[in-house]
Amino acid sequence: MQQSINKVVIVGGGTAGWLTAGVLAARYQSNQDGVEVTLIESPDVATIGVGEGTWPSMRSTLQAIGVSEADFFQQCDASFKQGSCFRGWRDGSNETYYHPFSLPQGYSELNLAPFWQAQSEQINFADAVSQQSRVCELGLAPKQAGTPEFAFIQNYGYHLDAGKFAAFLARHCTKQLGVKHIQDHVVDVIADDDDYIQHIRTKKHGDLAGDLFVDCTGFNALLIGQHYQIPTNSIRGILFNDRALAVQVPYQSSDAPIASATQATAHQAGWIWDIGLPSRRGIGAVYASDFMSDAEAEASLMTYLNAFVDDNSLKQLKPRLIKFEPAHRTKFWHKNCVAIGLSGGFVEPLEASALVMVEFAAKMVADQLPANRDVMTVTAKQFNQKFLYRWDRIVEFLKLHYVLSQRQDSEYWRAHRQTETIPETLQESLRLWRHQAPWHLDTPYIDELFPAASYQYILYGMGFKTAVDTRSTRHHASNQALAQRLFSENAKRTQQLTSGLPDNRALIRHITQSVGTVN
Ligand SMILES: Cc1cc2nc3c(=O)[nH]c(=O)nc-3n(C[C@H](O)[C@H](O)[C@H](O)COP(=O)(O)OP(=O)(O)OC[C@H]3O[C@@H](n4cnc5c(N)ncnc54)[C@H](O)[C@@H]3O)c2cc1C
Repeated sequence: MQQSINKVVIVGGGTAGWLTAGVLAARYQSNQDGVEVTLIESPDVATIGVGEGTWPSMRSTLQAIGVSEADFFQQCDASFKQGSCFRGWRDGSNETYYHPFSLPQGYSELNLAPFWQAQSEQINFADAVSQQSRVCELGLAPKQAGTPEFAFIQNYGYHLDAGKFAAFLARHCTKQLGVKHIQDHVVDVIADDDDYIQHIRTKKHGDLAGDLFVDCTGFNALLIGQHYQIPTNSIRGILFNDRALAVQVPYQSSDAPIASATQATAHQAGWIWDIGLPSRRGIGAVYASDFMSDAEAEASLMTYLNAFVDDNSLKQLKPRLIKFEPAHRTKFWHKNCVAIGLSGGFVEPLEASALVMVEFAAKMVADQLPANRDVMTVTAKQFNQKFLYRWDRIVEFLKLHYVLSQRQDSEYWRAHRQTETIPETLQESLRLWRHQAPWHLDTPYIDELFPAASYQYILYGMGFKTAVDTRSTRHHASNQALAQRLFSENAKRTQQLTSGLPDNRALIRHITQSVGTVN
């Protein structure tokens, strides 16, 4: 008789641990099979404390966990994120482009990219096909005060305070979803004769047994790395960034506008993120230590900050240095242990792809929670295939931002364009896209992380040219009228939204004032 999987033990109480606990506990809360979720976190090891940008997927994750969006806004210092705005990536001048979360107008009907090419000198791609770039440019919210929780007019995710978010999820999971919470340090991992984890040994609570162990111990990777020694696959040869300097910066006034998108400004050997929360901004320089020293990175960050922070306040800011190895595990699920979050891997947060991977992983574990160990080997194989594929797509998509740059100001940018640093599948895609715009067949799975639209926003935002050959002109001629209608509809809708949507701060204030104080 195979041992059934009833007891899930999550080690680690950062965002990965608590999101996984929430997704699993919410799914099995009313389940008669009695799946029990326990989360253990060390009082001695701090969480990473960064990770402030999410994808729109977080809306459905929060809904599934059963939290109120208003409570979330109030308790996590959250704001709306409607995409990313890239500055200085094309050639180092002050040019900008958007990767908005909303899909292009008429996305299910027609690929507008080939039709936009003819007017590319008059209007940028994002403005031509979506309303969201203009909405972001004006600092507007993605919905009205009367729009229901989690619903939207323009697709959105969130910017949030990572520490507050983990604490918010912990309260909800323990009070509403029955997650058992233990604060203790795990000192050892004990496996049975088949090399499955039998129990973990803690400092004060003795041994803790389980059927499935989720490693959410961050860069420590206590179970998947230290215990099982599952190797990592380094991405350093493709994406060079391996350090970040992070600061929290107060607004100049309590009424200062809150940006609607993450600002990602390129510098000589990396880029700077700038995220607007209601109470402060979270800003940080990401860079490659092979190309830039910590002191140079700090100088670059200070120059950025000095544009809006006075000299005195600037001196008070003490950036925090975070080192990371751009890498992911060669497998994430081994025996009865699955790694979720930083323990599974991490690359630079250019498209904020870490938390969405946590959400997808937690959901897959919940969806496929194996009945017994025999089934678990199959589930583990599927999980590993799926997430290795996703890692490859993330790496390629991030690399795309660098490959298309024409910056000449440093060895860093030139190295990014060298063929040997570009994954072969990305080189193939680029060859294809020189003759046809990205479309659905380029992203074949229904649960792809990045739809063809995302590739279009980056390619055409970066000034990439797809040749309009006679074949494609003939192919598209019959759709000319439809394309013109969609462009006109987009322009009209942009006009309506930019004159009708409230600004971010006004809407967030309205939402948070509607709830009481935290208990
Ligand atoms: C600079 C930077 C910027 C980022 N920006 C983004 C972003 O914009 N968007 C995004 O999606 N992601 C971002 N991320 C990634 C994001 O921060 C993480 O994916 C997320 O916070 C999850 O972290 P975690 O829970 O895996 O690890 P951690 O937060 O490090 O938590 C680890 C947990 O394990 C526990 N632990 C460790 N050892 C033991 C032990 N022996 N016993 C018991 N418990 C133990 C610790 O106590 C802690 O609770 C960023 C990361 C970095 C480094």
